Amino acid sequence: MRFGLRGVTTNRWLRECGLPLGVSDVALIQNGDHHRYSGLSTCGSGWVCPVCSAKIRFRRADEISRAIARAIEAGFGAVFVTRTIPHTAEDELRTTLGGLTEGRAWASSQKMVKMARAEAGFLGCITAKEITRGNNGWHPHTHDVEVFREPVTPTAYGKLSTEYFDKLNAFYVRNGHKPMAKGIGVKLDIITRDSDALGRYLVKLQETGVGLGNEMARGDLKKGRKGSLMPFDIAAYFLRTRDADVLKLWHEYERETKGKSVIRFSKGLRAELLPDEPEASDADLAADGDDAGVEVGRLANWLYRRVVAIGLEAAVLRSLDTGGFGALTELLTAYHLDTTGLHGPTREIGSAGVDNSVG
Ligand SMILES: [Zn+2]
Repeated sequence: MRFGLRGVTTNRWLRECGLPLGVSDVALIQNGDHHRYSGLSTCGSGWVCPVCSAKIRFRRADEISRAIARAIEAGFGAVFVTRTIPHTAEDELRTTLGGLTEGRAWASSQKMVKMARAEAGFLGCITAKEITRGNNGWHPHTHDVEVFREPVTPTAYGKLSTEYFDKLNAFYVRNGHKPMAKGIGVKLDIITRDSDALGRYLVKLQETGVGLGNEMARGDLKKGRKGSLMPFDIAAYFLRTRDADVLKLWHEYERETKGKSVIRFSKGLRAELLPDEPEASDADLAADGDDAGVEVGRLANWLYRRVVAIGLEAAVLRSLDTGGFGALTELLTAYHLDTTGLHGPTREIGSAGVDNSVG
């Protein structure tokens, strides 16, 4: 997908994501049954890059689950809050995403919201923004985990629910958006040790990226079921059909998410919950995060650039995963690529009886 998007994206970082750094070779790293590259540039976009997004969201989800587990252990309260904005098929993403962002900020600054939060012992929140598209147009929404100094009582829950809804709704109406349906526009779900609210939240974080959830969403598409599309479903649909209207949607999504955070902790909350862990930026998370595995070979810079140019990046790794260096050599030869740029294996790999003379 990243190969396909390179040709049509308006994001210059995405165009360069996955290319070799400078003129150095690209290392092939084996970790268990899987291979990966090392020495590639990464764009670090959690919105538009299918590769970086998956890594960022996967690693943030892990970070968040540890933070919330710590909060629950410490006896804090935690509430899962979803906020949406009413929309029609004609609404531009700029309008609804902007309305949601401004509405959230405005509501948080209101005295009644501040009072309800203060009474409940509000510590901060972790916010994940999500954008999907359905028959009714763009559907931007946010998923927060709000953390409180103590477990949230039914009274506090009631006040928070009322104030969050009323203030956000008042902002929408005053700014020309449609009013929200009661009980639907804002939803609060208390997270306890036993509730599945957190699990659902973490699954959502990962579904927004590319992964199993995305594969399942695409499965739905094929069966013609109704449902909302994840942004990468839109990209995949365009790459299959080359439909210009769909590309317009993708470009609108690129434009409106540019420079916006995907998931973030409010000020001070991360330090409170994960004091011993240094904070990593999206770019850090997208870069080679782990040192696991051993280098089993290298592709010369020029050869890797040829591999990228014809969209074989994933196929190279798959061939190594399934058939080792023999399969990789076969693949490169089939595409008339010069295998003198393939070096390795630098040590015996797997059980396939690898030919060490390659390159
Ligand atoms: Zn990237």
